[in-house]
This record gives sequence, structure tokens and C-alpha cells, in this order.
Amino acid sequence: MNILVCMKQVQDNAVAPKLDPATGRVVTQGVETMVSPFDLNALEAGLKLAEEHGGEVSVLAMGDEESKITLRIGLSMGAEKAYLVSDPALEDSDPWATAYTLAKAISSIGTFDVILCGKQAIDDDAGQVGAGIAEQLGISQISYVNEIREATADSLTAKRVAPTGEEVVQAALPVLLTCEKSLNEPRYATLKRTRMANRMEIPVLDCAAIGADTAKVGKNSPSTVQKRYMPAPRQSGELLRGDAEEIGKLAVVKLVEQKVI
Ligand SMILES: Cc1cc2nc3c(=O)[nH]c(=O)nc-3n(C[C@H](O)[C@H](O)[C@H](O)COP(=O)(O)OP(=O)(O)OC[C@H]3O[C@@H](n4cnc5c(N)ncnc54)[C@H](O)[C@@H]3O)c2cc1C
Repeated sequence: MNILVCMKQVQDNAVAPKLDPATGRVVTQGVETMVSPFDLNALEAGLKLAEEHGGEVSVLAMGDEESKITLRIGLSMGAEKAYLVSDPALEDSDPWATAYTLAKAISSIGTFDVILCGKQAIDDDAGQVGAGIAEQLGISQISYVNEIREATADSLTAKRVAPTGEEVVQAALPVLLTCEKSLNEPRYATLKRTRMANRMEIPVLDCAAIGADTAKVGKNSPSTVQKRYMPAPRQSGELLRGDAEEIGKLAVVKLVEQKVI
């Protein structure tokens, strides 16, 4: 079974994001990074499928050279191959352009039975890229997967979280899954694999190498961010003191004053 996992490097979520007032962009230079957590669940699912059914796992990221850190984490957890897509033309890519580029990269790298993504990236939270890749490749997809039930030579059955409950879906291979945190517990990297991962060469593919049309990506993406800003900090609330009856009456007066009721 040939498996590919898309892994995105994001800013460490313990660091409060800052906006550069001059450019309106999030400041990324010098900020600690991490792998978007759902992508680790995706990788764990891919490694388990390869252990149970044979085959190998490759990891793929789109980003700058720094994203090799994420790919090396993938290699140190058990992936056999890693690919970075990087090109100045990709800067300012929206989710459609990101999905288009990753789909082009996947097609140029090889053929895969199962492609795994996180359900969303924790920095931009679009939750669109996995579905977009499946659409671009013309393959089936199962989103919000929290259990993989069965994989055969030509199909995969998974349980997914739906607003109305849970669904068990069978899809023909090749299939793309977007993964929930509850799907599994990602494994730790071993020291031996970490050493090996740090020595491995990671091929860097630009738009020309994957046959991506630069007229469709980056600044030419179908959507643009018009404005990026930090919301004004919320004012602290007012603490009402007294016995329950007094507080209740006062609360009603204040809610009427504020036109809440
Ligand atoms: C108009 C516009 C301009 C933007 N400009 C920039 C920019 O200049 N620089 C910038 O860093 N971001 C930029 N972004 C954000 C960036 O393009 C988004 O990261 C991208 O659109 C994907 O959305 P998301 O991260 O929310 O992914 P989601 O759809 O939430 O991601 C779901 C899953 O898809 C996979 N995935 C997503 N992105 C990648 C990736 N890059 N590599 C590998 N796997 C991935 C992962 O498995 C992830 O868990 C821009 C967004 C918009 C709308």
C-alpha cells in the first residue's frame, strides 16, 4: 500500500501571533514552529496502515526551507521518503492554490493508494486543503475520520464524525482521508530514526518540477485576504456583589440597559 501524508509546519501555538503593522502579515521570522497536530494523527494512521498492509509512507510539505524540520519529524517517526514543494511563486497561495499545488506534487511524485491530511491546519484553520486535493486528483475522500475500520486491496472503510452523529463510509481506492485527533495517539520518534532523518537529503521541488502553473498560485490565487487585524481586546466584565436576589434584580436591570433582554 503506497501512502502519502501531507504535513504542514505552523507557528508554535504557545506563542501569541503578532501582526506586522506595515505589511499586515503575521510575523513568522524567529518564531518557534511545530507540526500542525492533526497531521501527526494523519502520519500515525499512515504508518499503521503500512505496518498492517505493507508498503511505505512518504511525507509532503509545501512551504519554505524551514518546513524541512516538519518533514524530518515525519521521517523520524517512520516515513521512508520526504518531499518539499517550495517556490517564491507560491507565496500568498490561498487554500485552493495550496490544494492545486499539493495535488500537482503528488501526481509528479508517484501513485498512492491512500493520501492522509489533518482535518485542518491550526494556523489558518481553512479545513479545505484535504478536500481540495481529492477534488483536484479526482479521487474519493472521507473527511473527519476518527477510526479506520478496514482496508482491502481496492477499498477503505472508515468512521467519520458528522454533525448528526457518526457515519461509517466505504470508499474506493485511491482515497484521501482527513484525520481527527481522536483517530489515534501519534508515536514518539526513536533516537536511531531521528539520527537517520537528520542525515537524509530531502528533494525540493519547484513549480516547474511538478508542472504547476504559476498563473494559478500565489498572488494569482482565486481569493485574497483583504484585511488582517487583531480584534480589540474585550473589556473586563463587571462583578455584581450581594445576595442572590439582589444580584438577580441588578443583573436584569443591566441586561435591559444593554438591550440584551
Ligand atoms: C489569500 C490568501 C493568501 C495567503 N498567503 C499566505 C502566505 O503568503 N504565506 C503563508 O504561509 N500562508 C498564506 N496563506 C495561508 C495558506 O495559504 C494556508 O495555509 C492555505 O491556504 C491552507 O489553508 P490552511 O492552512 O487553513 O489548511 P487546511 O485546509 O486547514 O489544512 C488541512 C490539511 O491540509 C494539509 N496542508 C495544508 N497546507 C499544507 C501545506 N502547506 N503543506 C502540506 N500540507 C498542507 C495538512 O494535512 C492540513 O492538516 C494565505 C491564505 C489566503 C486565503
